Amino acid sequence: MSDDLKLHEKVPNKSEKDAVGAATTKIKRDSDEFKKLTENKNAKIVFKDEEGTGADRMMTTKLKTPLDTLADSVASEWDNVKLRVTEAWDEKNEHGANSTHYEARGADLTTSPIDGTKLGRLGRLAVDAGFEWVFYEDDKHIHASMKK
Ligand SMILES: [Zn+2]
Repeated sequence: MSDDLKLHEKVPNKSEKDAVGAATTKIKRDSDEFKKLTENKNAKIVFKDEEGTGADRMMTTKLKTPLDTLADSVASEWDNVKLRVTEAWDEKNEHGANSTHYEARGADLTTSPIDGTKLGRLGRLAVDAGFEWVFYEDDKHIHASMKK
């Protein structure tokens, strides 16, 4: 559809730092900040969990809200398709400096089953779900984040 995001489009159209603020810390497991995170157990979301640690389910409560909304929108938009989270909190330094993943307020999104042709629509649904910054980062995923 016409309002689908285009590859590399950002909503709002500014840097993540300007939209939601750069990350200033890296949350460590069992720290006080870690204890404030929420484990997302939403059965409508597929978590990749390639680390096998459950880290992808850990997120700020502020991030969980639009994610749960988006899971419902994806289920209504397409038959037999679920929202898939490939990364949320990252405790292994797999992202760039000051990544919101380190503060568990950024998530990488695709669909399950994986279908690259759905990403533009998924990006728009993410904007509508209330994420404060949505980035059609590459042809593999949408990155969406929230302020602290
Ligand atoms: Zn990301």
